[in-house]
Amino acid sequence: MESLSKNLWNYKFSHIYVEKDALNYDISHDIISRFKKSILIEIEHYKDVFCRKNQNFILQKKIPKLILAVKKDNFIYPGSKMCDDFGNDNFYYTSLVMNCIYDCEYCYLQGMYPSGNIVIFVNIEDTIEKVKQILKNKSIYLCVSYDTDLMAIENITGFLHKWIETANKYKNLKIEIRTKSADFEYIKDIQSLDNVILAWTLSPDKIIKEFEKNTPSLNKRLKSICDAIDKGWKVRICFDPILYVKDWEVLYKQCIEKTFEIIGKRKVYQVSSGVFRISKDYLKIMNKLREDSKILAYPFQCNNGVCSYNTKHINKMMNFIKNEVKKYVPLKDIYLQ
Ligand code: SF4
Repeated sequence: MESLSKNLWNYKFSHIYVEKDALNYDISHDIISRFKKSILIEIEHYKDVFCRKNQNFILQKKIPKLILAVKKDNFIYPGSKMCDDFGNDNFYYTSLVMNCIYDCEYCYLQGMYPSGNIVIFVNIEDTIEKVKQILKNKSIYLCVSYDTDLMAIENITGFLHKWIETANKYKNLKIEIRTKSADFEYIKDIQSLDNVILAWTLSPDKIIKEFEKNTPSLNKRLKSICDAIDKGWKVRICFDPILYVKDWEVLYKQCIEKTFEIIGKRKVYQVSSGVFRISKDYLKIMNKLREDSKILAYPFQCNNGVCSYNTKHINKMMNFIKNEVKKYVPLKDIYLQ
């Protein structure tokens, strides 16, 4: 299947909602001009559309609308306890795009946002300015591609170019760019940097087909990974989330074997892995939205507001993954959640 992001220009975003303030930014006009067939609607505030009551997230994911907005606050957030900081101090993340062009059945965004439409905050410069202020006093580990997949829409936003340009100027800024895309080509013109990590999430093909709708195949993601390593980028591989499905051992073993067979002698920076885990509140919403979901029907155990498999299953799954990955990567470079 062709990458969805390549086809976006042709058939996505029947409507583009744009805040009046957002019209003051060149990037808004650039984006609008690329979607000539879209109906343009001016709005006062993105929340007037994005936060309306009684929206159907699942339906909107099928035919998402685009919203262009100006971010006024909450430019950066402290990292979540459900995400690994990889031993870095001052872990933060940014959310310049809300929602994702992919449609993973287990995605926490379904529980977090009231809408499946995509919001792009066009004033990235304000977030970068905020980051620069913090960098005056301390180093930062910043994940820029949470709550979305920035690489998959780089051809629309150009945000990765801006983040990498910033990392090039500020050596006490370390950036992680997480993706499931096969779109490394969008940044292949950029010189690799030591303080930027490209983190690819990988899953077995069966899981991709069943639960990661619209995402590229494992082979395509691996091709992007190989291209990135060949260009000198640090690549983190994330087998995450590991899902407790029928034959999970066979599926993940094959996935790990295939991954390292294709990567061959190239050096992987780190490998991380974790089982499916999610906030209790989000899971409640997701269960209502996807009553027929097999992966969400597991009798999860919840501790301190976080739900996951029972401890016996978690230990078994993480030990299994660790033992498979350590055949290819030194233990010191393997991080388990
Ligand atoms: S790629 Fe990530 S952010 Fe996008 S739908 Fe899947 S889980 Fe959610």
